[in-house]
Parts: sequence; C-alpha cells; structure tokens
Amino acid sequence: MQLLNKAISYVLPVFPKSMVGYFAKPYIAGERLDDAVKVVRDLMDEGACATLDVLGEEVHHEEQALHAVELYKQVLQRIYSEKLHSGISVKPTHMGLKIDTEFCYKNIRSLVEMASIYKRFVRIDMEDHTTTQDTIDIYKRLKEDFDNVGTVIQAYMRRTVDDINSLIPLKADLRLCKGIYIEPRSVAWKEGSIVNENFSYVLEKLIVNNCYVGIATHDEKLVWEAMRILDKYQVKKDRYEFQMLLGVDAELRRIILSEGHKLRVYVPFGAEWFAYSTRRLKENPTIAGHITKNLISSVFKRKEKALPAEKPKQKQAEISD
Ligand SMILES: Cc1cc2nc3c(=O)[nH]c(=O)nc-3n(C[C@H](O)[C@H](O)[C@H](O)COP(=O)(O)OP(=O)(O)OC[C@H]3O[C@@H](n4cnc5c(N)ncnc54)[C@H](O)[C@@H]3O)c2cc1C
Repeated sequence: MQLLNKAISYVLPVFPKSMVGYFAKPYIAGERLDDAVKVVRDLMDEGACATLDVLGEEVHHEEQALHAVELYKQVLQRIYSEKLHSGISVKPTHMGLKIDTEFCYKNIRSLVEMASIYKRFVRIDMEDHTTTQDTIDIYKRLKEDFDNVGTVIQAYMRRTVDDINSLIPLKADLRLCKGIYIEPRSVAWKEGSIVNENFSYVLEKLIVNNCYVGIATHDEKLVWEAMRILDKYQVKKDRYEFQMLLGVDAELRRIILSEGHKLRVYVPFGAEWFAYSTRRLKENPTIAGHITKNLISSVFKRKEKALPAEKPKQKQAEISD
C-alpha cells in the first residue's frame, strides 16, 4: 500500500493539470477569493465556521512574502465586509520565516493587528520540525499583545508535551492535530498508537488547564476520545471546537455539528493550488492513499442519506471566528 501511495504521489504531478484538479477539487475551494467565500457561505449554512488559508509556502524572496500578506489582508477585509464566520490560517514559511524570523514576525503581526480590529482570529499553522521553535517563539511574542491569535501543536512530535507545558501558563489557544509532515524518528513518534495516546494526553491536559482547544482530526477514535474528555470534565461549549479539512469526511462533520459542537473547516484556496498539492503529495504519500480511498468509496458507495444539516446549538463567539 505504501508503495502504491508513493507511486501515485509521483505520477500525479506529471498528469495534466486538469486531471490533478479532479483529484484536488474536493480539498481546495478554488483559485479565487470569490470561490472561497462561496464555500464558507455553504459551510455557514450547514452551521459550521471556517478558517481561510491562502495556498503557498516556503517563500525565499521578501516580495513574495509581502504579496502573501497583501492577499491575506484582502481576505480579512472580505471576511469582515461579508460578515463571514471565518478566521485565517497562515504558514510561517509563507510569511517569510526562511528569509528572516523578525521579518516573518512583523508580517504575521500586521495580520493579527488587522484581524483584531475586525474581531477575527489568526491561526499560525505548524510546519515541519525545522520551524517548530521559531513558530512557538513568534506565537508567544504575539500572545503578549493579542488574544486573537493561536498556533498548532502536533501530537506526533516528541517535544509536544514540553511545548504545552510552556504554553499552558499563557492560556494559549491551540489547534491540536496529529501532524502531517514526514519527520525523522529522532523528533517524532512513528507509531500511530503512540501518536493517538499522545493526542488524548495532550488534549486532556489542555482542557484541564483551561486552554481553548481546536480538536483537529477526522479519526473517529480520537473524536470519541475527545467526547469522553469533554464529558468527563463537563467542558463548556465555548472552551473548544472541532476542526476538519475541507473535503474530508463531510458525514462526520455533519454528525459532530448535529450534536451541538462548534466545528470549523479549514478552507484552502489560491492560484498556487497545483504546485501546493503536488508538493504535499510527494512529501507525504499517505495523503494519496486517503484520496484514492475516499474517491473509490464515493464512486462505489450507494448514495447515503445525509443527516439533516442542523445549526449548532451554541452561538458562535465573534472573536474566535
Ligand atoms: C483543521 C486542520 C488543520 C490542520 N493543520 C495542521 C497543521 O497546522 N500542521 C500539521 O502538521 N498538520 C495539520 N493538520 C493535519 C493533521 O496533522 C493530520 O495530518 C490530518 O488531519 C490527518 O490526521 P487525522 O487525525 O485526521 O487521522 P488519520 O488517521 O490520518 O485520518 C483519519 C481518516 O481521515 C481521512 N483523511 C485524513 N486526512 C486526509 C486527507 N488529507 N485527505 C483525504 N482524507 C483524509 C481518511 O479517511 C483517514 O482514514 C490539520 C488538520 C486539520 C483537520
């Protein structure tokens, strides 16, 4: 299976763009901001909220990073003017981290400042291990001045428990996910069951210590673990949210929403979708496996009756959008 995934991830980039587009379509809102706005509106009709990601990463020239900042400002402007229940997610390497840390900090800060005026939230995505410390340092500096900013913790990283121990005193707002990059064993747990145990351990610790958590997973075992922890501590609905990627397991998304939990969908869009999708596939061939599995089941599965899209029972806090 691993070999097949690897083969698919290497073959796809040489396919015509239109064909790759067919595979990528469910996972990417489109090329233009208008496309993304439409997807966010549809999600809001389902009762979900969103975080918008302008595709692109690892820029090596200042102009590229500044261009990305401008695009994100247009996104924030649009989110505000159209009253969308959405924040933004930014990648430090897209904001110039590989050029200069201080430059990257200032770029992200300018977005957090603008978002705070619009009462919207900026999530700093977590990339591979070469960026972890800088990302956490940037987040800690921003958190001193702003509440509308959060970052991401990856359950597969060996350092994660130490990281949350240093973030808990700040009452950090953290998205918790497994982690998507292929990391060396020296920095990341490689055994899936350990990653899941660590996810639960970290989630429980964050909840007990009153940190706001974005529970980002499509793994039903972890969704169950989260439900168990939320029930055990009788956690109020404004202390957490579930998060899922666009195009992945819409049925689970509707189930979670129908049970009254807040749920945010990560909505990537942008002109760079082709380069982004093919690069990420090569980085992590298991994604090719997920895509083919989902595609095959959507082709062969009898059309299931979807659950009615109920609005979540709680009111969504503006500031956390
Ligand atoms: C909102 C959100 C934000 C994220 N942000 C980051 C981040 O900042 N940094 C980071 O390293 N990782 C991030 N991730 C990715 C995350 O780390 C995992 O790699 C990803 O969510 C898959 O893990 P899982 O918990 O869903 O479990 P898995 O066991 O990997 O997946 C469970 C099931 O979900 C489906 N599935 C999962 N992923 C995909 C996919 N890509 N395509 C199609 N089907 C899929 C498959 O059916 C699979 O069997 C994010 C994930 C989400 C949901």
